[in-house]
Amino acid sequence: MRQWVDKLRKERTLRPEEFRQLLTECDGELLRYINEQAQEVSLRHFGNRIFIRGLIEVSNCCRNNCYYCGIRKGNPNLERYRLTAESILDCCKQGYELGFRTFVLQGGEDPVLTDERIESIVSAIHRNYPDCAITLSLGEKPREAYERFFQAGANRYLLRHETYDKSHYRQLHPEGMSCGRRLQCLQDLKEIGYQTGTGIMVGSPGQTVEHLIQDILFIEQLRPEMIGIGPFLPHRDTPFAQSPCGTVEQTILLLSIFRLMHPSALIPATTALATLTPDGRERGILAGANVVMPNLSPQEERKKYNLYNNKASLGAESAEGLRILQQQLENIGYQISFDRGDYKQ
Ligand code: SAM
Repeated sequence: MRQWVDKLRKERTLRPEEFRQLLTECDGELLRYINEQAQEVSLRHFGNRIFIRGLIEVSNCCRNNCYYCGIRKGNPNLERYRLTAESILDCCKQGYELGFRTFVLQGGEDPVLTDERIESIVSAIHRNYPDCAITLSLGEKPREAYERFFQAGANRYLLRHETYDKSHYRQLHPEGMSCGRRLQCLQDLKEIGYQTGTGIMVGSPGQTVEHLIQDILFIEQLRPEMIGIGPFLPHRDTPFAQSPCGTVEQTILLLSIFRLMHPSALIPATTALATLTPDGRERGILAGANVVMPNLSPQEERKKYNLYNNKASLGAESAEGLRILQQQLENIGYQISFDRGDYKQ
């Protein structure tokens, strides 16, 4: 089986049946091997530097009802909030002083956060912090909206496709949401010139190995600049409350597969992985990840951006915990990079 890992590293792809074997027959020893290979590729491209992104969770109001997500419209047990422009700029100020040079504005698809408001917030951040990258993760928008945000100074956009398989997409989302529409958004973002991120939740309900192979092949063809891979974690107030978590092993296996296929991609060790297991961040990095996204949201709102049970937002997952993060990284031989960390081929 090592031959598939070596081939993947060399040729950056495999045939579907080879991916299938890797995904279904990977034991502990092979997992260690592929993680090492992927870490080596990551070290070769980025050295022992981990980029940091300041995550600002701008709103937990959402018009969508994704079955997996704790901030879905249909969750009545959630105190909703929306940050003001002033509060978002305040987060950026604090982040800038801590050394962050990338801000990620993430939120539900909040109808009150109109395109005009988003455009004006992006402009203000760009005006105040011209040396910083602005990443948006605000869901599906018309192409014109993406163009406006880009003109205003946004450089990057994160939009996980969640699953490439149409019937699996329907298992995860209610009627009215469409896989085709999501893929069109990704196409638009790429064409406009955003550094574009996509990805999946590993172990989402109904996910099969065949779905994962389709996801791998889709991402291979899209060639996103960023790839977000985290485990699915249940949230108590969703239809998937009783579904099991994705596993650490499958998450880091996929992370390594993506690193070997996309050596220069920006791949975070996700908060979901750090929530699933206390050493998740480190294991993600040792499997090829090169980005972490500490939380810069106002402390009093963090608990309300509750995508899944027990979501981590303190300690090394928080912007104010950079020193703890630095220490954890040093323990595994890495350091924080305070650069913007743009995608480079
Ligand atoms: N609304 C935007 C969107 O749809 O891209 C951004 C916010 S959305 C909450 C960000 C990501 O959180 C989703 O792409 C999804 O993969 C992840 N997410 C939501 N619920 C999750 C869960 N229960 N477990 C793991 N990840 C989850």
